Amino acid sequence: NKPTVKQYDYDKIRQQDKAHFLHPWQVFDVFREEGALPIVEGSGNHIVDADGKRYFDAVGGLWCNNIGLGRVEMAEAIAQQALQLSYANPFVDMTNAPAAELAAKLAELAPGSINHVFFSCGGSTSVDTAFRLIHYYQNCRGKHDKKHIISRINAYHGSTYAAMSIGGKPGDHPPEFDFIKDTIHHLSYPNFYRAPAGMDEQQFVDHLVQEFEDKIAELGGADKVAAFFAEPVMGAGGVIVAPEGYLKRMHQICKDNDILYVSDEVVTAFGRLGHWFASKERFDIQPDIIISAKGLTSGYQPLGATLFSDEIFAVLDAEGSDRCFAHGFTYSGHPVACAAALKNIEIMEREQLLGNVKEIGPYFEQQLKTLEDLPIVGQVRGINFMQCVEYVADKETKALFPEALDIGKRVSNHADARGLITRAIVHLNVMSPALTMTRKDVDFIVSTLRE
Ligand code: PLP
Repeated sequence: NKPTVKQYDYDKIRQQDKAHFLHPWQVFDVFREEGALPIVEGSGNHIVDADGKRYFDAVGGLWCNNIGLGRVEMAEAIAQQALQLSYANPFVDMTNAPAAELAAKLAELAPGSINHVFFSCGGSTSVDTAFRLIHYYQNCRGKHDKKHIISRINAYHGSTYAAMSIGGKPGDHPPEFDFIKDTIHHLSYPNFYRAPAGMDEQQFVDHLVQEFEDKIAELGGADKVAAFFAEPVMGAGGVIVAPEGYLKRMHQICKDNDILYVSDEVVTAFGRLGHWFASKERFDIQPDIIISAKGLTSGYQPLGATLFSDEIFAVLDAEGSDRCFAHGFTYSGHPVACAAALKNIEIMEREQLLGNVKEIGPYFEQQLKTLEDLPIVGQVRGINFMQCVEYVADKETKALFPEALDIGKRVSNHADARGLITRAIVHLNVMSPALTMTRKDVDFIVSTLRE
């Protein structure tokens, strides 16, 4: 019962867009020439552009379209909530049913003692929330010097000043920005494909763990380090699956040193790897804080969640301390966004979409891997519905093509022409399709990329 497609004058839309809409990561010289492609409608894993061309979107929007686009049930849940109560003030003395129900549902799905949720508007604001929560928590404990944050090179944690400072992609840190440098530090990232020559996986892990221990010592010891941030599988940094044992050992160092372990699951939660939360279910680590967004609503509404442990909550909630976590957004616990998340989770449960990821994921991995016989494919990597192809100029030396050649973009442009959307990140094409993907869809992706 979908409504008919609303018509627009797309020549005018293109003009308005070019003149007034500053896009995220807009490259001005390119945008001035090319503008952006208007997308008109979407259903499942497919989108249609203003010229009527249909694509299989293997990126799932921006790693966020987990249940598929255009579900009537989602639209109805959103409309129902918007009609009943479109907004409610979340500041302390009022609440709304979808926010409370969603918080309880997340506490049920999250591992161990992670039973508390702070809602925000997306991933970046959830990372900022974690950052503020960490400092507040350490101050409440009287640990006023425990302020340093340790993250990894090539991590992506969002685009607010704090989140981008915690992130470590060199391209995201141009000198025109004044990022937080005195209290945020970056370790090497666990990319075994580009590990120092001569190291086996175990030696590489030992090396990374040692680097973490050295960094703690360099900063003045554990009493100076507040938290470690890590994506279970790095996303925008190139779908980096760490070697066996890395996450567990980094987590152990955190435990041994009273350093909070923050797992940024903005991409990996809600089924992308086949689990609600990958940290515990896939990698057997129990974080203190988990950050979620994207698949939480499958992009039907903007929403982020910072989930944290009973232990952290107990410090905030200490009776008689008169504490107030002075942090909040107008849209924290937005009833319409929370209603969308609840319906999204209900659909995932009912349709057993995590089961589909566990069934189709290995096939996706295995089929994509066959591309490694191509002369320009250095490595295919990922887990289940989070995958990446890395292009190299020389497979032996792993030398990259010159950046100016824009190899990822060139491949993705050819794929676009054949009706397949992949995301180009310099020398990579990344993929994160909706969890409904079938074997036939996988065959289409792989044959198109090979072509
Ligand atoms: N954290 C990770 C791991 C992400 O991949 C992203 C976005 O891609 C973010 C945080 C930021 O999320 P948002 O763009 O919703 O602010």
